[in-house]
Amino acid sequence: MSRSRVDPAVPLQADLFGNAVAVPSPPTVAPPPGDVPTHLVLFEAGQRLELLIERSARIKRSVMRVDAKARTVVIVAPPREPMASIERFARARIGWALAALQGLAGSRVTDAVDIEHAGQTLTIAYELSARARRVALRVDARTGHVKLVVPSRMSRQRALEFARQNAGWIAARLKRRLAPVPLVDGATIPVFGQPHRIRHRPDARGSAWLQDGEIHVAGAAPHVARRVGDWLSAQLRARIVPLAREKAARIDRRVAIVSLRDTATQWGSCAQSGRLCFSLRLAFAPPAVVDYVVAHEVAHLVHHNHGVRFWALARKLTDGDMAACKAWLRRHGPSLMRYG
Ligand SMILES: [Zn+2]
Repeated sequence: MSRSRVDPAVPLQADLFGNAVAVPSPPTVAPPPGDVPTHLVLFEAGQRLELLIERSARIKRSVMRVDAKARTVVIVAPPREPMASIERFARARIGWALAALQGLAGSRVTDAVDIEHAGQTLTIAYELSARARRVALRVDARTGHVKLVVPSRMSRQRALEFARQNAGWIAARLKRRLAPVPLVDGATIPVFGQPHRIRHRPDARGSAWLQDGEIHVAGAAPHVARRVGDWLSAQLRARIVPLAREKAARIDRRVAIVSLRDTATQWGSCAQSGRLCFSLRLAFAPPAVVDYVVAHEVAHLVHHNHGVRFWALARKLTDGDMAACKAWLRRHGPSLMRYG
């Protein structure tokens, strides 16, 4: 797509700071009369999102559809909806559109739904799931994105009714959401539960290290966040791997691989092959909680379920108070999502 073809009459601009650009339609798509652009390009967090705009006389309000498989985002707008208002509509939904494009296998975001609650408009991603058995609302503690996961067989009307009934709960969750803490110079983050300040040392050699209770980071400013992330990941690995091996040895099992991932929905997982996976966010949690999560996954090497015998084994493998650790994760887990 060529930038030089942008119609100067279209009052939209492109830049890397979140402004939009309107691009004329490719020759294969006939532009609707009186409205040139059929593409809209938005930028968020350095990511470029291209939206295709379609017009339909059958709808009264714009809808956004995301097809994660085809990696396309389409806005269907009423014939006379001005571009500026389509852009506003798109901008309010860019976060979940990007999330939907990174989509989960087995589910499909179909569109975004607005729900009014106490004078506030809550935008919810409507997601059809082949796996879900019950309708569920999820609020991402870090991004604030809300999604409604709907089993394939449930009617849209019933699902939306569920969302409306729970609008108060969504609003409360969003309000409770903590402000994000970027990994930059001067920020304070917990490392295994202890607050640590990040200190950027542009002139120092090395990458990241602990000094006087602070995380010192060398190199250029744009690399600070990544270097802190790498350092945290190394700290977590150094703690988790020996713990997992030692706990597995207690029950005559072997841990094949330990991998760390930035997962928002689970603290750990265990595959039948003996591969254990943990959330990078555990690097922020107190040691006792990390110990419990490791014990939990190691117990899954024996019991691939959450039955009575599983919990008895998990309790045995947990060095601290398992119930207290579970309670801590329920209460404070979402706040671990705010860093980075
Ligand atoms: Zn489990």
